Amino acid sequence: MNTIAIEDSFGLSTCSKQAIAVERGAGSYVWDEQGRRYLDFTSGWGVTALGHAHPVIVSAINAQAAKIMQNPNSGFTYSPVRSRLLQKMQQVLPTGLKRVFFANSGAEANDAAIKLARKITGRSVVIAISGSFHGRTLSTLSVSGGPDNAARYLPKVPDNMFIALDDEDALAQIFSQHAVAAVIIEPVQGEGGVRVVSRQFFHALENLCKHNGALLIADEVQSGYCRTGSFFAVENTGVSPDILTMGKGIAGGFPFAAFAVTDAVARGVEKGDHGGTYCGNPLGCAVAEAVLAYMLNHDVGQQVQVSGRLLSGALKAALKPFSGLVKELRCAGLLIGLQLGSDEQVQRLTQICLDNGLLVTPTRNAVLRIIPSLLLNEQEIEEGVTLLQHSLTQLQNEQNLSVQAKTA
Ligand code: PLP
Repeated sequence: MNTIAIEDSFGLSTCSKQAIAVERGAGSYVWDEQGRRYLDFTSGWGVTALGHAHPVIVSAINAQAAKIMQNPNSGFTYSPVRSRLLQKMQQVLPTGLKRVFFANSGAEANDAAIKLARKITGRSVVIAISGSFHGRTLSTLSVSGGPDNAARYLPKVPDNMFIALDDEDALAQIFSQHAVAAVIIEPVQGEGGVRVVSRQFFHALENLCKHNGALLIADEVQSGYCRTGSFFAVENTGVSPDILTMGKGIAGGFPFAAFAVTDAVARGVEKGDHGGTYCGNPLGCAVAEAVLAYMLNHDVGQQVQVSGRLLSGALKAALKPFSGLVKELRCAGLLIGLQLGSDEQVQRLTQICLDNGLLVTPTRNAVLRIIPSLLLNEQEIEEGVTLLQHSLTQLQNEQNLSVQAKTA
């Protein structure tokens, strides 16, 4: 049996997979087992922020693995690399956020943020935004998508309420009727199809949280670490969250995440409130330290602003002939969504792109997402846009043929 057949036979499949067995990667490219090269415009869902096999990541892993990977008694003991990372993060954390806890995934960081918000406030109501995505643990799933998202796993976590993005009236109404523990929000919805929260809504949200003693949780798992051109997307809003969660690009491919809290939140956290075997493990810390140092030394945020503008400009021009297929282009740095007409179109376009050597991310609500390496260069932008154009032409031709066949 080949790789794909073995995975299909013995893996517990929870999604439909693309028929590609990826063997290695370098920068923005990956190669399959047959040696075919693909341009990766997914970066593993926004994770390989410095591209594949970046030398600073490889050498951080090698060097730290040779020293120590897991502390004796894990988080009960101190670690030089963990303390260096904590200190370095002070340079990038938004004002007011200081204390950091390291986790293993974005969902775990959000789960902990919700858990601590409930504990600190002594309340249970958590407000979330429709179309958001915060992870796949039971509590994060219950604040993702919409009220029915966790219906398969009954009983649902109670007291979660959803409002539409930017709906200030609905937000104010919930606050007037309930004692709210927290509001969890992505400053830019990623899985929701690249939707930027308005500044006005963010400020109204901050005010309501502050006046009512609720905590504002900014989920920057996807939008953080330079993805949208600033280190964290909340920087563009002027809003100060009480808890900020981060993950994905934080360690460029090594499973690692974190959440940062204000001193006021930290004061409400007691011994035993949270923990985990791998939390803050030295290997993850070493990679995160290397990634952060690289991002700061090379001003990756500034690079993303430039390449994001180039990519969105090139896409805008390239998409003109396809206005029947692509209804809208939404861009936030190097987080880009193409709004198509149906999920079927997105699935088909993803497959055609794959056949043409371009990897893109199909996303809910008929959106095709582009989340490339943050170090994407001009030549890769040109190549990616050309491959996308070819793929759209193919999709358009297929659709025209099927319309002709129906009318014949
Ligand atoms: N939050 C956001 C905004 C995300 O985009 C994701 C994943 O896509 C998560 C949380 C969950 O992160 P993880 O898959 O690392 O658990």
